Amino acid sequence: MISVRDAQIHVLSRVAAPVAPEVVSLTQGLGRVLAQDLRAPFDVPPADNSAVDGYAVTSADIPVDGARELEVVADLPAGAVYEAALRPGEAIRIMTGAPMPAGADTVIPLERVTRADGRVRIPPLAKGSNVRLRGEDVSSGTVVIEAGAVLRPQELGLIASLGLPEILVRRRPRVAILSTGDEIAEPGQPRRPGQIYDSNRFMLRSAVELCGGEVTDLGIAPDDRDPLRAQILEASRSADVVITSGGVSVGDYDLVKEVLGELGTIDFWQVAMQPGRPLAAGRVGDAHFFGLPGNPVASMLTFALFVRPVLWKLAGRRQLSARGFHARASEAMPKRRDRREFKRGVLSYQDGSWEVRTTGPQGSGIVSSMVAGNCLIVIEEDRGDVEPGDTVWVEPFADL
Ligand code: AMP
Ligand code: MG
Repeated sequence: MISVRDAQIHVLSRVAAPVAPEVVSLTQGLGRVLAQDLRAPFDVPPADNSAVDGYAVTSADIPVDGARELEVVADLPAGAVYEAALRPGEAIRIMTGAPMPAGADTVIPLERVTRADGRVRIPPLAKGSNVRLRGEDVSSGTVVIEAGAVLRPQELGLIASLGLPEILVRRRPRVAILSTGDEIAEPGQPRRPGQIYDSNRFMLRSAVELCGGEVTDLGIAPDDRDPLRAQILEASRSADVVITSGGVSVGDYDLVKEVLGELGTIDFWQVAMQPGRPLAAGRVGDAHFFGLPGNPVASMLTFALFVRPVLWKLAGRRQLSARGFHARASEAMPKRRDRREFKRGVLSYQDGSWEVRTTGPQGSGIVSSMVAGNCLIVIEEDRGDVEPGDTVWVEPFADL
């Protein structure tokens, strides 16, 4: 038996370096991982500019009390530049975003002034009001996004504001996925007596895509040594990661183990967890190999715990752990000591705090428990039964 933590450390230690970088256009950047620190090539905003529609003035002309009249000498829409310098007694009508004219340091908002006959009456206002300063968003030369960041809409917006149409990101890790078992049928095909439809491959391929991988679908392999060996070997030539499901337990037809013993260097673990005990992990050629359990919930869970961090590390991501927080158990949860248990939970906000219950039956073949749930409840090795009101760790199904 190996602990979840030790198995995770093992699989991650096998990833020596991330996959190669590639240049993509900004419009293809969502969800990709930045391959180098991104430095601002100039200040943003590039010049002091007005934060409101109003009148640009020099603070020397602003009255301390009462009001003062200034002559309006120009109208400055956004995008226009005032070539001359503002002189004493002058004001310039300015729109939001227009660069501040030389000599002006304050903008009086439109609604604070009265205007008549080319003149404007301005009230007292603090020097510098309503001016956005050059470089206040980003100053030239600073790292604005670090290598290893996953690009979200806001990162893409920031990169665009720096005028960059392309970015250097990591190539998507290539992941080949194979289901195993004589009893597994392809959705859309007739199902013979004794067969069940393949659920794992469809779960796994979309989970791979959600965490940034590119899928090669290898279909279903029968419980037959030669085709299985041929498919795994073939997949390992082009994929960064090969994933199979099924065939890693101790039954008579569990061939993945045998075949892999011949093909590569694979560890077969009994992980101290529930669900999902048996797991094979190692290398076939240059590819990382994962033999996940056949039961769908176990398959998905072992993917999340052991494959996903490897995909993230291959993709150059900095953050390799799932995010979670504490919540209050609203019901009793049986738990065996000395293993980590993962229950599918329903998390809700009740009376000012987060509460969680299980989805009901927790068998490792019950796919619907993952659909009914919105989080994993993680109960650590050293804990026994959970009582109502106890605190438990939860991880929302963010990218599952
Ligand atoms: P195995 O590890 O091959 O003994 O499989 C364990 C259980 O998971 C068996 O009940 C299998 O029928 C089931 N199983 C295996 N592969 C799949 C799959 N791709 N989709 C759904 N169930 C599966
Ligand atoms: Mg099987």
